[in-house]
Amino acid sequence: ANEKESLFVVSNYASKYFKDQMHNSQAGKAIGLSYFKERGFREDIIEKFELGYSPDEWSAFTDEALKNGHSIEFLEKSGLTIVKEEKKFDRFKGRVMFPIHNLSGRVLGFGGRILKTEAKAAKYLNSPESEIYHKSKVLYGIYFAKKEIIQQDNCYLVEGYTDVISLHQSGVENVVSSSGTSLTEGQIRLIKRFTENITILYDGDAAGLKASFRGIDMILQEGMNVRVVLFPDGEDPDSYAKNHSSNELIAYIKEHAQDFIRFKTSVLLEEVGNDPIKKAELIKEIVASIAIIPDQIKRSIYTQECSSLLDIGEQALINETNKILRGKA
Ligand code: ATP
Ligand code: MN
Ligand code: MN
Ligand code: MN
Repeated sequence: ANEKESLFVVSNYASKYFKDQMHNSQAGKAIGLSYFKERGFREDIIEKFELGYSPDEWSAFTDEALKNGHSIEFLEKSGLTIVKEEKKFDRFKGRVMFPIHNLSGRVLGFGGRILKTEAKAAKYLNSPESEIYHKSKVLYGIYFAKKEIIQQDNCYLVEGYTDVISLHQSGVENVVSSSGTSLTEGQIRLIKRFTENITILYDGDAAGLKASFRGIDMILQEGMNVRVVLFPDGEDPDSYAKNHSSNELIAYIKEHAQDFIRFKTSVLLEEVGNDPIKKAELIKEIVASIAIIPDQIKRSIYTQECSSLLDIGEQALINETNKILRGKA
């Protein structure tokens, strides 16, 4: 417990340090703050998410932390400092910082985005696993979203930090992100503490589509309901929010939210055309998702929908579902 508390303390210190650097240092203002402003983030939103800037020097943060009495042991364990051949380096050197909060608002870790897009380094860097930061159990934004998730009885799931922040700025607050890790059971169960309903808002690209298909089955597995909003090609919720008013964004989400059957059908039908063999494969792909649903009544409702959408007899779908279920037993 002591070890955890020490990690919380150093993470909190780091968060305050990065924030202070961004608002009060010359470089922080010129590089960090102006980066966020150029992305269109409002002052109140930058404040709310405690965004910050890590100076572009080898150990500016680490030196300051040590001077303020923090031990190298926990600086290293938190991943904020990298120790190599007795030299100390700041992990997040020269990045804009997104603190990651737990359910009660304490900082567990960080995501850091590089500024120079031509650089070869990874665009985003995350804190490594620690006693307090378990990637697979954390959702970015959950602290700021939980109240509204309960209120709306729905949770929007996005890919990135900036998608969460932009949706907040547009007035949509029931939103979280798995930020870089592919969605885990632990993350879904965290959402399930607040609602049974998830709407996936992944990026409108091949990777986003693929992740949506995987996410659907994982969410169904937990007995939850899942809908999907497909964004235009090349757009994510953040870029969409930048090019549209908040009313347009909210309307887009509302009008394009489809239950998973309709979503999968519309995506897969584009590849199928009039080919009956491909159509049969499509139907099996959808039935495979239906078979994951634990609740029999929900299964039956989705079977009916699939039957009418794809113009195929319900009994054939039921038989196929039962075949899969028997195979599992
Ligand atoms: P931005 O709008 O700032 O360019 P994004 O959130 O749209 O970022 P994507 O490329 O869509 O970025 O990736 C989605 C999420 O995946 C990111 O927010 C980040 O959490 C994670 N991610 C992206 N690239 C990397 C990387 N190279 N290493 C680790 N995580 C990454
Ligand atoms: Mn993407
Ligand atoms: Mn994106
Ligand atoms: Mn983006």
